[in-house]
Amino acid sequence: MAGLTGRHAARAVGFKRTGRDADTPTVTFERCPYDATLISAEAFSGGSLMLTCERCGAAWEAHNSLIRRVIEPAWDEVQAAQAELRDHAGALAETPKH
Ligand SMILES: [Zn+2]
Repeated sequence: MAGLTGRHAARAVGFKRTGRDADTPTVTFERCPYDATLISAEAFSGGSLMLTCERCGAAWEAHNSLIRRVIEPAWDEVQAAQAELRDHAGALAETPKH
């Protein structure tokens, strides 16, 4: 019983890793360039993807290797997010503030 479970687990991992990566281009654009929030991608017919950032509301349309921004981000939100990121990075690196 225990061996079976282990084999199942290994197979699940293998499936996940190799699943459809031949015809599915790896989405390198997975974080918002403005606030580094994980963005969600929605597939459209014709191979297009609609990428949206829930943080700042920006949206991009991706087709093949072309990415076009269709909705401008809320810059207030972007600034707030960037300030948070800076604080976070500073805390991690433990560098004194200038
Ligand atoms: Zn964003």
